[in-house]
Amino acid sequence: MKISEIIHALEAVAPRNLQESYDNSGLIVGDSDHEVTGVLVSLDTTPDVVNEARAKNCNLIVSHHPVIFKGLKQLTGNNYVEKTVIEAIRNNIAIYAIHTNLDNVLDSGVNGKIAEKLGLGECEILRSHPDHPEGVQFGAGVLGRLSRPMSEEEFLAHLKNRMQAHVIRHTRLTGKPVEMVAVCGGSGSFLLPDAIRSEADFFVTGDFKYHEFFDAEDKIVIADIGHFESEQFTVELISEIITKNFPKFAPDSSERGTNPIIYYT
Ligand SMILES: [Zn+2]
Repeated sequence: MKISEIIHALEAVAPRNLQESYDNSGLIVGDSDHEVTGVLVSLDTTPDVVNEARAKNCNLIVSHHPVIFKGLKQLTGNNYVEKTVIEAIRNNIAIYAIHTNLDNVLDSGVNGKIAEKLGLGECEILRSHPDHPEGVQFGAGVLGRLSRPMSEEEFLAHLKNRMQAHVIRHTRLTGKPVEMVAVCGGSGSFLLPDAIRSEADFFVTGDFKYHEFFDAEDKIVIADIGHFESEQFTVELISEIITKNFPKFAPDSSERGTNPIIYYT
């Protein structure tokens, strides 16, 4: 099987042209004509992950975050991005990223996975883009309904447990039961107005800044579980897409926790 066949299966779920204009999803390093020896799936591509791929005889890394995000002017190994690229090329390892295009699809997307983990049903896109010619429902964030209403305290415990969050930074509780939940993996503060407009009781995401928390204004509870924590099950999602298309092929999931944030508690 060629690398291009894996890419084809991934892009059937999340077409590359659905990525945001600032993004860099797609094949970043390598030759799609090469035969696949093994696939390693990770959230980020770091030098550690390239080493892991080499040790596991995987010549394709599929990551959510693109390691090259802006232009590289030299490749001298001066930072982790350059080191990652150099090590990948040196070891003949391809790097493929499936980022905002995977965020933006409803079916088998990043936010659908979060919704699945939280037990949300009746899911719809939070901020829809106009219908795409390919007939894919796409846009940012997902809104879904809990199978039964929970108290806010109960939902926070549920959220912490299901998303394996170390800590949840949240705004003042409103005292209302939680039924509708808006989610956005990664940095989702741009979707707060949509979450409020949709009358969600909670907005679950990552990377909220201090001043942005004020904007909840008791209309919603913002729950920031961390960027990594919100997207960690994307690895499981990507592996499932590959396995579904190639049942005899089992991709490896990276065992290197790539979260650069460590909690001192
Ligand atoms: Zn992210």
